[in-house]
Amino acid sequence: MPDSPIVIVGSLSDPHAAAVFEGVRARGCEPVVLDAQRFPEDLPIALGEAPEDVVIEGRRVGRPAAVYVRSLYQNPAAYGVDADEAMKEDWRRTTLAFRERATLLSAILLRWEAQGAAFYNPSSSGHNITKPYQLALLQAAGLPVPATLWSNDPAAVRRFCDVQGAVVYKPVAGGAATRKVEARDLGDERLDKLRAAPVCFQELLPGDDVRVYVIDGRVVCALRIVTDAIDFRQHEQRIDPIALDDAVARECVRAAEIIGLRYTGMDIKADRHGRYKILELNPSAMFLGFEARAGVDIGGPLCDALVAHRAQ
Ligand code: ADP
Ligand code: MG
Ligand code: MG
Repeated sequence: MPDSPIVIVGSLSDPHAAAVFEGVRARGCEPVVLDAQRFPEDLPIALGEAPEDVVIEGRRVGRPAAVYVRSLYQNPAAYGVDADEAMKEDWRRTTLAFRERATLLSAILLRWEAQGAAFYNPSSSGHNITKPYQLALLQAAGLPVPATLWSNDPAAVRRFCDVQGAVVYKPVAGGAATRKVEARDLGDERLDKLRAAPVCFQELLPGDDVRVYVIDGRVVCALRIVTDAIDFRQHEQRIDPIALDDAVARECVRAAEIIGLRYTGMDIKADRHGRYKILELNPSAMFLGFEARAGVDIGGPLCDALVAHRAQ
């Protein structure tokens, strides 16, 4: 079926996009790459008004069987995006250029999605990823999430910390590490900083960090990250595969379904009673580091899942 390719959205200089590219190829399909980093400078794209009229580098793509979305590199501050010079020169023009580019690229993905291509992951899950919304969706579905407050209101933050006892704080969207709230953080001067940006405050979960990969409604692996630090990144001491209780595995699968993700790496962590709570589901979870350190296969099942749609 040459007219229903597997598409990889991402740059092949991104190791995860490259790994999926190689994996799909090794399974006998030559993927089409939509490398958003090359667009518009070095990647010719032509779109007509008909939904299927999408031509990338001279190739009419048609309806893809499946699409792996690593990144559209839409955010000037995102990993792999270098907009420093252009921003310094003219930030207004550069921001507008980013928006023009992003608008066209997102439309391509939405067209493919509307035509029934299987997305890993769908654009429609994008809003659900927003953490203060994501956790609310999970909570409403009866799934276990930590007590959390997102706020710029010092009084609300003090009340929350008073009720919860041990609390951590972290960014609403990302970009900084998780830290424990200390008594000095609740002083006027420190909380006045909330005028600059809201912050996420959350019940401290003292259990081990566990990363769970779910693909197409199945837990592919669960890994325990052994560390002494609050925020495990860059502090991993050991990563071990573990077996999840059936009930926890079912909650993870259900969480992926509720957020609308065919593929996710989610973070769960136990509270002081040993009960797992869901910290977050990531839509474009990295897996190479976990594979290398824990000796598990995540990219393999992901590529199998993509290629399986060719037969349908
Ligand atoms: P990110 O999107 O930045 O990965 P997470 O919510 O997963 O955001 O937080 C990053 C890490 O910080 C977690 O994997 C965990 O190690 C630590 N962390 C986050 N929230 C808590 C919490 N409530 N209690 C204890 N540790 C936490
Ligand atoms: Mg995380
Ligand atoms: Mg995350």
